[in-house]
Amino acid sequence: MSEPSCLFCKIVAGEIPASIVAKTDRVTAFHDITPQAPTHLLIIPNQHFATMAEVAAADPKLVGEIVALADQIAKEIGLDSYRSNINTGAGAGQSVFHAHLHLLGGRAFAWPPG
Ligand code: 5GP
Ligand code: ZN
Repeated sequence: MSEPSCLFCKIVAGEIPASIVAKTDRVTAFHDITPQAPTHLLIIPNQHFATMAEVAAADPKLVGEIVALADQIAKEIGLDSYRSNINTGAGAGQSVFHAHLHLLGGRAFAWPPG
């Protein structure tokens, strides 16, 4: 189930190029086009959901698969720690309405976030 006008659905379908680092039958990880840290990956469900909350409501196991793939990649590339971030809604900074988890690493992170 994909959304014809959705940027990340097009990445999953291979219609728009992306630097993909991992892909399972349900989840895809690729480099963010505007990295905010030395490592900045996006981990997304292959199926279209507007937000991670929608993923959780429809298929809670899929949220776990997204978090687990992020952690697996972080370990594989040698990150001791990382920031994972889910923006939900435009007011929180969500700009692409296909659910995604940001995996950021390779620098120090402030808390609270900006
Ligand atoms: P959001 O602001 O929705 O939490 O995150 C969307 C992310 O998608 C942003 O960090 C942005 O840089 C990234 N992004 C937007 N367009 C593209 C694209 O065409 N390719 C890739 N790889 N990332 C994109
Ligand atoms: Zn989509």
